[in-house]
Amino acid sequence: MIEARQLSKSYGDHKALKQLDIQINVGEIFALLGQNGAGKTTTINCFLGFVKPSSGEVLINGVSVTQDPKESKKYLAYIPETVMLYGNLSGIENLAFFSSLAGQTYSTEELKAFLSKSGLQESAHDRRVGGYSKGMRQKVGIAIALAKKAKALFLDEPTSGLDPKASNEFSVILKELAAQGTAILMATHDIFRAKEVANRIGIMKEGQLVSEMPASGLSANELEQLYLQTI
Ligand code: ATP
Repeated sequence: MIEARQLSKSYGDHKALKQLDIQINVGEIFALLGQNGAGKTTTINCFLGFVKPSSGEVLINGVSVTQDPKESKKYLAYIPETVMLYGNLSGIENLAFFSSLAGQTYSTEELKAFLSKSGLQESAHDRRVGGYSKGMRQKVGIAIALAKKAKALFLDEPTSGLDPKASNEFSVILKELAAQGTAILMATHDIFRAKEVANRIGIMKEGQLVSEMPASGLSANELEQLYLQTI
């Protein structure tokens, strides 16, 4: 569902990505770890079509992002570290607006169902987003992905700044999304969360995937040791 083939990106003389290969299947959560500057965001930005690869290919549901950007965008949703929403609109109004941008029109009941499924308490649905916590904004981001029926979800540092409870709730929702058939790529510095939520973990260094493993075979401590030895 999410695939990078020999993906390279240079900024002038600097090679940010070097022949990167990634494959993430339906139902999988792949966590990308790596130091600042390793190339995690650049990888995600190539999938989102924000950054044009220097060579190689990125595909979503078999559709090339560079060759058919409009078609590839139909399948994807993106949740950045801080979900950008309209502060003066309510959660439900934001969801209605962003769904309409994706060509979807829903009834109020359907919109509320997406927000509830994302874990946003009902009392908040009609409140202005300006008063939402970071975790609540993330939940609206998930609801937008649900409403869009995204098959591929990209997340960049989604749990950074979330308290442990909000972070845990977020992990549960991500696992549910994956179980329903979404492929998920998540860039994070949170080794514990990566181990907790992902099926597979990749460690990036200087634009390359230098290590890749199933999350189940390692404890969080072992993963941290491996990470420190690798980077
Ligand atoms: P972080 O954990 O800090 O978010 P990252 O792993 O996401 O880091 P990237 O943001 O992808 O790393 O950056 C990879 C490399 O590419 C870095 O050396 C960065 O300075 C460089 N880079 C990223 N974007 C640009 C740009 N627009 N112009 C020039 N260099 C860039």
